[in-house]
Amino acid sequence: MSKEKNVLDSLEINHQEANEIGDDHLSSAVRTPLRDDAFVLTDQEKIELIQEKFADIMHTLGLDLTDESLKGTPYRVAKMYVQEIFHGLNPKNKPDAKKFGNQYQYGDMVVVKNINVTSFCEHHFLPFIGKAHIAYFSDDQVIGLSKINRIVDHYSRRPQVQERLTLQIAEELQVSLNSEDVAVFIESKHFCVSTRGIQDRESSTVTTEYRGKFKEELTQQRFIDYFKTQTEMK
Ligand SMILES: [Zn+2]
Repeated sequence: MSKEKNVLDSLEINHQEANEIGDDHLSSAVRTPLRDDAFVLTDQEKIELIQEKFADIMHTLGLDLTDESLKGTPYRVAKMYVQEIFHGLNPKNKPDAKKFGNQYQYGDMVVVKNINVTSFCEHHFLPFIGKAHIAYFSDDQVIGLSKINRIVDHYSRRPQVQERLTLQIAEELQVSLNSEDVAVFIESKHFCVSTRGIQDRESSTVTTEYRGKFKEELTQQRFIDYFKTQTEMK
């Protein structure tokens, strides 16, 4: 019996429970559930294994893998999983947290708004896409502005739940900025809601995390007003 068959046997999956967890989008912890041996295989070894398994899925669906258009698909999917859409699973791909001294003593709120979010629901492996708005008060440390975009992107590029993504970004910002005062607002559309199940294309999901000074209502409101403002830039 193959090794993969044993992996499934040990899970004792209850199908009803699996459907309920998927539709309610419940998650279990702030940390992404990874095994201790998650990075024993190299990226190249993972691509080869996933390629084989994805070919099995396509074959099981009845597709003809000798077809010119289909035959490269298992490799393309495997490479996309490992090198692109789930690239943020591996801590070695985490953006470098280079800090600078806050030389100009800027003390007010910094807002980075309309950051693209491209992530993937861990219950269905379908995308959810939207925008993140981030704010912080810097203490003695500042980081490059593009670093904020990179942090959002890193934590998005893994099988995710939007609530967990929001918390992981907030935690990383606190560490990177050495500040308690961070705010994260994410709004996104989930393809597992729009293309299957309830098939609702209009609804979107908002998640927020307010820490430190952002627990104060006025500060929160200032942040919201800033990201709602449309500044004309020509
Ligand atoms: Zn989903």
